[in-house]
Amino acid sequence: MVEYVTPYFRPPSEHKSFILQATIGCSHNNCTYCAMYRKDTQKFRVRPMEEIKGIIDNAVSSELITDRVFIADGNALVLSTNKLLEIMGYLKKSVPGLERITMYANVGDILRKSQEDLNLIKENGLEMIYIGFESGDDVVLERIKKGANFDETVEASKKLKKAGIINSAMVLLGVGGKERSIEHAHATGKLLTESDPEYVGALSLQIREGAPIHQEWKEGKFELPEKFQMIKELEIIVENTNLTNGYFFSNHISNYLPIKAKFPEEKDKVLEQIREVLKANNEDLLRPDYYRDVVNQY
Ligand code: SF4
Repeated sequence: MVEYVTPYFRPPSEHKSFILQATIGCSHNNCTYCAMYRKDTQKFRVRPMEEIKGIIDNAVSSELITDRVFIADGNALVLSTNKLLEIMGYLKKSVPGLERITMYANVGDILRKSQEDLNLIKENGLEMIYIGFESGDDVVLERIKKGANFDETVEASKKLKKAGIINSAMVLLGVGGKERSIEHAHATGKLLTESDPEYVGALSLQIREGAPIHQEWKEGKFELPEKFQMIKELEIIVENTNLTNGYFFSNHISNYLPIKAKFPEEKDKVLEQIREVLKANNEDLLRPDYYRDVVNQY
């Protein structure tokens, strides 16, 4: 029996992975748009090693782990290198068919690790890290209390590349509000180009009760861009993003317009697709709000 502290979260692409909740919550827990770990029971803590090994043993005997493990919660890379190596070593020993280990991390978690430590973590099984870049605009990053700026995000990305850890970056349409929409989009494209992640996932901001931005929105201090403005942001981001060899997705449920492209080959094709939708200006071409589960009335 695996005891989870709920709710817990994982990227959509980890739906086949066993979720190993080695930490509870997020050590940063400060981003204004985030309502994920706000319950008292989710206060950040690290599970004792014996508990983690017990969870792995139980999952193995119940055949819950097959080949993929996602180490949760919000930023498992905050764990000490020794602890991470011990967990990954135990996983490898216990799960003979283990193919990949992934986790979420903050830019700060990566910068706090030495290059040698990151290399070691990669050699011992960490394949990919999911990072919330959210925006490349330092004004927006400051406002949303992301805890990292443009230059730090580029530096963290370079360290991952050097270690051979795959970088899956998330960016957030609408997070600059109406006011910084255009600046946010331009700077985000630039950040993606300089960071050159292997995967980019664009999400659209959904204002959730419990997140500090919900209060700002209720008080009229934050205005969410209109649907087509979000798509305009997507266009600008794609236009300004040059990946040497990566994938750009906006197929997350939160988005109005799902796109999927291999960069650089399919960049022009997908830009054309976005522009056609902008030109048509027809809501029927967009994913409906009820499907996106938008909280829009308070
Ligand atoms: S967005 Fe990520 S880093 Fe920010 S508070 Fe939420 S879980 Fe933590």
